[in-house]
Amino acid sequence: MGSGQVTSSVSPDFQGMHVTVAGLGVSGVPAAKVLHARGAIVTVVNDGDDARAREQAAELEALGVTVRLGDTASVSGSAAGTLPEGTELVVTAPGWKPDKPLFQAARAAGVDIWGDVELAWRLRGRDGREAAPWLAVTGTNGKTTTVQMLASILRAAGLRTAAVGNIGVSLLDAVLEDQAYDVLAVELSSYQLHWAPSLRAHSAAVLNVAPDHLDWHGSMEAYAKDKGRVYEGNRVACVYNVADKLTEELVRGADVEEGCRAVGFTLGTPGPSQLGVVDGILVDRAFVENRRENAQELAEVSDVNPPAPHNIANALAAAALARAYGVPPTAVRDGLRAFTPDAHRIAHVADVDQVAYVDDSKATNTHAAEASLASYGSIVWIAGGLAKGATFDELVAKSAKRLRGVVLIGADRALIREALARHAPEVPVVDLDRTDTGAMLAAVREARRLAVAGDTVLLAPACASMDMFANYNKRGDAFAQAVRELGA
Ligand code: ADP
Repeated sequence: MGSGQVTSSVSPDFQGMHVTVAGLGVSGVPAAKVLHARGAIVTVVNDGDDARAREQAAELEALGVTVRLGDTASVSGSAAGTLPEGTELVVTAPGWKPDKPLFQAARAAGVDIWGDVELAWRLRGRDGREAAPWLAVTGTNGKTTTVQMLASILRAAGLRTAAVGNIGVSLLDAVLEDQAYDVLAVELSSYQLHWAPSLRAHSAAVLNVAPDHLDWHGSMEAYAKDKGRVYEGNRVACVYNVADKLTEELVRGADVEEGCRAVGFTLGTPGPSQLGVVDGILVDRAFVENRRENAQELAEVSDVNPPAPHNIANALAAAALARAYGVPPTAVRDGLRAFTPDAHRIAHVADVDQVAYVDDSKATNTHAAEASLASYGSIVWIAGGLAKGATFDELVAKSAKRLRGVVLIGADRALIREALARHAPEVPVVDLDRTDTGAMLAAVREARRLAVAGDTVLLAPACASMDMFANYNKRGDAFAQAVRELGA
């Protein structure tokens, strides 16, 4: 059973309430503004004190918000004195770790702590608007893609919707939008779920759970528990991944509304109460009359873009949530056909000399890279960057048979090289001892040398990009640029 706790000690009205906002930035600034506009007395604490922070602080101070810049005590000091006098509620940026002194002080004082999602959840349906139900998606990988597929399907059904969360419209904007949405497709990270105790989705999916962000959560158990929060209080369906037992266990552990169903998705033939694939067709055996005997055809595998296995899984999860909301089968097909993936997610850049060049720069962890590598038969793999504490043995062992060759870049490439030596000693490896941005052109040239006609050169680094690039977008752009230079 889940905790089921709802922090209700705070009145829904913010008038005159002393609220401390932890962290400026993408969620803190809008949160401070909204709370201030609703009559709260807002203090923002921020550890940084750079030019950007000062600019944001000046904007908030002009409104009458108090801002404490360079407040490192709340981040790394002792709990004493870190909580501004009289604080009745803390609203935090999702990335702040739960063990910060500020939170210890808040907990000791019995003060509730809300994240940006909790704030949005509490504000929905305010001002006489009808609150749109949330269809929520979490998981280690595939969240953005699935939420966008879901929004596309809902739109194809004629519903007013938006893909919100880490992408596109912010959650706060979506719930405060004048023209109400019918339903929202919401992407939620494990951090956001950690800080969203009273969120109750219409239906939710956990796509997969693989070790990631363990430094933040403290343990795999704590990480999985935060992901599992997304199922708490679901009304219609808890969607899980049949191939990932942990997701099903999380459903079993959740405290849901009476009548809410567990619905699985699988790349194999679906059982009753599952969605799956039969002879190249996505089929629904969950939201049909007499599901013991009937199956409803939804779409063809070729309607999924790109039709890589992990992406078909994402499409099935999106379809399950849409069907839970009552969307007809044709809208699933039309929505999937209308969907185009975001950049740097298995994006085909070009074919040069019958070799395909694919940019999956967004594969920033080993679980994502494993899915990516499983999508092609014979690969020259460009990998490396910041490992974030990951190990590469499992990834390399599982993918070894597909590797024509490997080109390594970035700070932590030795970790991958060692795993390759252990599990794929026969695969040629080029270790580029460079971390400058120009290294990508050299990497692509080396990859071309290793590749033969029919191969795929795949940038799926299994690592973060910040050692060499500003972000994964820039890394993917550098790859695409290098490929264009090859073809020129
Ligand atoms: P997220 O929002 O969770 O980061 P994205 O949809 O942006 O997920 O996809 C990120 C990367 O994860 C993709 O580039 C791909 O490499 C990988 N990926 C996408 N879907 C899945 C999945 N269902 N299972 C494993 N890896 C996936």
